[in-house]
Amino acid sequence: MARIVMKFGGTSVANIERIQNVALHVKREVEAGHEVAVVVSAMAGVTNQLVAWCKEAMPNYATSEYDAVVSSGEQVTSGLLAIALNNLGIKARSYQGWQIPLRTDSTHGSARIQGIEGDALSKDLSSGTVACIAGFQGVSPEGRIATLGRGGSDTSAVAIAAGIKADRCDIYTDVDGVYTTDPRIVPKARRLPRVAFEEMLEMASLGAKVLQVRSVELAMVHNVRVFVRSSFDAPDAPQIGPGGLPPGTLICDEEEIVEQQVVTGIAYSKDEAQITLRGVQDKPGVAAAVFGPLAEAHINVDMIVQNISDDGTTTDLTFTVPVADYERAMATLRAGNGAIGYAKIDGASDVVKVSVVGIGMRSHAGVAAKAFAALAANGINIRVIATSEIKISVLIDTAHTELAVRTLHSIYGLDQA
Ligand code: ADP
Ligand code: ASP
Ligand code: MG
Repeated sequence: MARIVMKFGGTSVANIERIQNVALHVKREVEAGHEVAVVVSAMAGVTNQLVAWCKEAMPNYATSEYDAVVSSGEQVTSGLLAIALNNLGIKARSYQGWQIPLRTDSTHGSARIQGIEGDALSKDLSSGTVACIAGFQGVSPEGRIATLGRGGSDTSAVAIAAGIKADRCDIYTDVDGVYTTDPRIVPKARRLPRVAFEEMLEMASLGAKVLQVRSVELAMVHNVRVFVRSSFDAPDAPQIGPGGLPPGTLICDEEEIVEQQVVTGIAYSKDEAQITLRGVQDKPGVAAAVFGPLAEAHINVDMIVQNISDDGTTTDLTFTVPVADYERAMATLRAGNGAIGYAKIDGASDVVKVSVVGIGMRSHAGVAAKAFAALAANGINIRVIATSEIKISVLIDTAHTELAVRTLHSIYGLDQA
């Protein structure tokens, strides 16, 4: 007998029929003798609708009320799943975040989990009740509902798995695992049998939205083995595939990965915008004058490139910010020009960051050069480059997204035969 957490995303609970299908997946695990906690997202599209209603009611809404509204989608699905399970003769009850309680900080809209009191939950599980938990939500120190940021049900699932010492955390979604790149844009993408925590963290941070970034961080810290699989596989399909697991991807410790590739995957993110300051004074304190006010405005800066000036007086500074913050960042920098002293500011929001990820890069030279040559051969201009030990990112024009992702996918031998 094992204790498992099963998480189902929006498309997996999109209507009553899909919820009944989820109940069959849960039934299979219950009948195998396991204790099961299920974490659910809102039905596909519901959270977007709830967000839109908040904006329509008042553009500058209170984020605590936004959380009260957007968390309701998960409340519905947690109750519906409990009903669907009862209908199959299985003992089940719904749990909202505050009922567990899953405690968060007060950063409404993107709250961080501070702790989980798993005793009541554990007691229910040991007595054979399936806990149907509303993902994406918790309770703040002030007793208000707080949500964990878009895609946050993944994080709820991993945190609960850590909190109740589950043996496994299975993330059911609309693809049957983590692929070498988004299978929606590269049909030749291959499913990866195993991905190391660190690589998954890079892939997710660089745009692979199959798992929320925070969920991977938590899994890594608490060593929760996460298994990504499809809810669209038949609930009664054989559960034994390669490695004794059903089709899917195991996110695990690097040591468990026997065959390591140099490049594991390609990710892309259209979430970035580029800002360039030209003719910036080349003297101490300028970078602080640029990035200080952006930090105060809670704008995250990602890629940063600065040249050494040839005449020792002025230089250019380029960096990226989230596209949603682009206008605000431009306004902040225009207002701060007195302190910064640049000659010209320009920017672009039609850019995409494409990244090559792999832990094998640590011990291999020439990975970046290969990417640059392939992009050049396809006439793709690189605006900004950033690298770390296990990734190379390039900022290019959005129009070239698919070409760049497909090209890089192919040159590193990731295409399916
Ligand atoms: P859920 O609603 O189940 O949380 P998401 O839409 O958040 O599902 O995540 C699944 C989607 O992630 C897939 O449909 C796929 O298009 C996208 N995706 C992006 N990159 C990858 C990748 N490398 N591997 C698998 N899926 C990916
Ligand atoms: N329903 C939330 C969202 O759409 C959380 C989630 O699905 O993980 O972002
Ligand atoms: Mg998701």
